[in-house]
Amino acid sequence: MLVPIHDVVIVGGGPAGCATAVCTARYGLDVVIFDRGNSSLRRCAFLENYLGFPAGIDIKTFYELMHAHVAEAGCEIVSDMVESIIRTDDGSFRVRTQDGRAVQAPRIVAATTYDGEYLRGLDSDNAMFDTHEHHGEAHEEFDREYADVNGQTPVEGLYVAGALAGRGEQVQIAAGHGMTVGREVLANVRAANGRWPEAATHYDWLRRREALDYDWDDEETWHQRFADHRLPDDHDIEQDRLERVREQEIEYVKNAHLNSTEIERRRERAHRQLATHLDDELLLEVVDDDRVLQYAEEQVEPGGGDSE
Ligand SMILES: Cc1cc2nc3c(=O)[nH]c(=O)nc-3n(C[C@H](O)[C@H](O)[C@H](O)COP(=O)(O)OP(=O)(O)OC[C@H]3O[C@@H](n4cnc5c(N)ncnc54)[C@H](O)[C@@H]3O)c2cc1C
Repeated sequence: MLVPIHDVVIVGGGPAGCATAVCTARYGLDVVIFDRGNSSLRRCAFLENYLGFPAGIDIKTFYELMHAHVAEAGCEIVSDMVESIIRTDDGSFRVRTQDGRAVQAPRIVAATTYDGEYLRGLDSDNAMFDTHEHHGEAHEEFDREYADVNGQTPVEGLYVAGALAGRGEQVQIAAGHGMTVGREVLANVRAANGRWPEAATHYDWLRRREALDYDWDDEETWHQRFADHRLPDDHDIEQDRLERVREQEIEYVKNAHLNSTEIERRRERAHRQLATHLDDELLLEVVDDDRVLQYAEEQVEPGGGDSE
């Protein structure tokens, strides 16, 4: 049987896993999320302290928005539970799920607050699990300090994000940590592709084309900016490698500039998409009645007949 191979497998589609997915899939990596099972977020009654939702947001809509965002970034979300992960002879990871799926990837991100069991065997139990007493009985729990602050673990290619990494006190903290882990994954991928540390960190920034205060076609200035921001003071990077990385970086930064027409196009598309997740009845109620009537009239053909 042919096993699908991805760049990254994320276990857990809560705030942490989704943030990692948005970060890595937007960069262009082939990313899949498996999401099923015990969730911290689904136990929350109503989310009132996540920035951007002044009166809060219900958990169902928040999940739908997170998953729509992940899909928009190009990441597949599979409703299935990961049961085991083993290391293959070539140093990759083989993932098996409850519904009998098998996939492979060189990188795993574990973002499953309550479940670290499927990671057992990738390192020694002593390193990965803590034992504590509860009502006189010994319990084992995934060690929330197993990963470092950026989610990196002693097992190459294995990362831990969000509450499972001890960064889940609030949804926003878990999401922020998921993004930090995503950037760590990207920095490692980019380093493996020949980038030195100053050029390995990825900035997913969209800039305003109109705010550019130098000539777009002036290659010298682009080169100078690259030297200022991405080159160490003293370096002995081979010329071929330097030119390759510089070309890639300048192309990326140029493509990340938006003119005002494009910003407006994206604004309309974003509002339209957001509206599809809102309650129709309430949307109509919020919009001014005269505006609703005017819109309805505009939809009717002159002469009284409805447009087909
Ligand atoms: C009762 C309660 C109320 C809370 N209220 C708030 C609040 O009001 N505001 C706030 O900011 N924070 C609140 N929190 C904290 C918040 O839930 C966490 O900060 C946040 O959800 C952590 O995100 P996460 O992505 O790390 O994990 P989770 O949200 O737990 O997401 C983990 C995901 O992994 C999936 N999963 C689990 N095991 C597997 C597996 N083996 N294979 C595949 N998928 C798997 C789950 O289905 C889940 O979707 C609350 C927590 C609780 C328990």
